[in-house]
Amino acid sequence: MMRLPPFTYVAARTLAEATAALAEHGHAAMLVAGGTDLYPNMKRRQFEPRVLVGLRGIRELSGVRGSAREGVTLGAGTTLSTVAAHREIATHYPALATAAGLVSSPQLRAMGTIGGNVCVDTRCNYYNQSFEWRRAIGFCMKKDGDTCLVAPGSTRCWAVSSSDTAPALVSLDARVRLVGPGGERTVPIAALYRDDGIEHLAKTREEIVTDILLPPADEWRSTYLKLRRRGSFDFPVLGVAVAARFEGDVVRGARIVLGAVASLPRSAERAEAALIGRRLTPEVIATVADLAAGIFLRIAFGHAHSQSAIGLKRPSRASRSRRSTRYRSRASSSAWTRRSSCTTGLQRFCVARAMKSLSSLAVWARPSCRS
Ligand SMILES: Cc1cc2nc3c(=O)[nH]c(=O)nc-3n(C[C@H](O)[C@H](O)[C@H](O)COP(=O)(O)OP(=O)(O)OC[C@H]3O[C@@H](n4cnc5c(N)ncnc54)[C@H](O)[C@@H]3O)c2cc1C
Ligand code: SF4
Repeated sequence: MMRLPPFTYVAARTLAEATAALAEHGHAAMLVAGGTDLYPNMKRRQFEPRVLVGLRGIRELSGVRGSAREGVTLGAGTTLSTVAAHREIATHYPALATAAGLVSSPQLRAMGTIGGNVCVDTRCNYYNQSFEWRRAIGFCMKKDGDTCLVAPGSTRCWAVSSSDTAPALVSLDARVRLVGPGGERTVPIAALYRDDGIEHLAKTREEIVTDILLPPADEWRSTYLKLRRRGSFDFPVLGVAVAARFEGDVVRGARIVLGAVASLPRSAERAEAALIGRRLTPEVIATVADLAAGIFLRIAFGHAHSQSAIGLKRPSRASRSRRSTRYRSRASSSAWTRRSSCTTGLQRFCVARAMKSLSSLAVWARPSCRS
């Protein structure tokens, strides 16, 4: 059985108390909301805070305010089950309600918060393992080691953003309010994410996400599709969030955001552009699906990065020799080829299948379905 390490719990009652506790304890402290991700990670020693600053007692962090007409504000401490069941959100921001309702299991959605979900740690098969498992393979650079086991030649971590609500919120053009020792700031949620598996959030350790602000829904329609290995509950292998605005049956605005393909939610900009001014015919949908799927393939085949950086090209002799003896014996040519082709094949299949479901948007374009 994995046990939690000892820690001190600071039950903050106000945001000021929480920020003061974070400032006082520095790197030894972390925030905890529902704890559904952080506590399991602490059991695996992926995080080792000595102090946890609890957000559950801060009243101003919970609740949903506003309306689709003027925009909706969600307190970061609002549970996922509340978000999923909220009538205004389900009606006018269905991508978000669907994404929240697909996170994990009912028990975890009753504890887990929207703030915790947008800040949830990136994931990787070599990292989301017990301490003993990770020690047996010599650890990796995300925690306790210095080599990336997915891409041994890489100088960065490629762990994957696995939040369900993050791509949905990016597609809805949401903003986040952050409060820290330097005051308050509000940024587009897309700007909260960095393309780095370790430093994946563009915020300081002392900043707390306090609210998520949804713009007026106007004519935007949205949907979220999730592929996962276990249908009952699991993190996404792929999340596809789509929001579109129609004039008649012609698309006038489109946002397509993929989750679980990179260290941050990734917008499919070329696919979005291909939708504008078009009717959602099967041919257009197929083209857009191919363009969106191309995002993953570009990442996977190292269009933007060197191939060895993501492990698809065998690392150089010099970089191989930098690795530990234990790992070197695992990194035989066949092992690395098997690993890369298996991952790519699975993701390719998932992207293609999920993007075909874009056709659900066509239903909205039919006059009989529009209110
Ligand atoms: C078995 C299992 C299955 C899961 N399946 C999914 C899934 O399918 N999809 C998915 O998206 N997630 C999944 N999760 C992860 C997790 O349950 C959810 O992401 C949940 O929403 C996290 O919210 P929380 O309030 O529990 O966050 P916590 O665990 O309390 O915190 C998560 C992280 O966010 C930080 N944090 C929390 N609140 C704030 C805030 N207000 N400001 C700044 N930082 C903050 C914490 O410091 C921590 O780093 C799963 C977890 C488990 C154990
Ligand atoms: S991508 Fe590499 S460094 Fe990051 S968690 Fe996985 S193995 Fe570790």
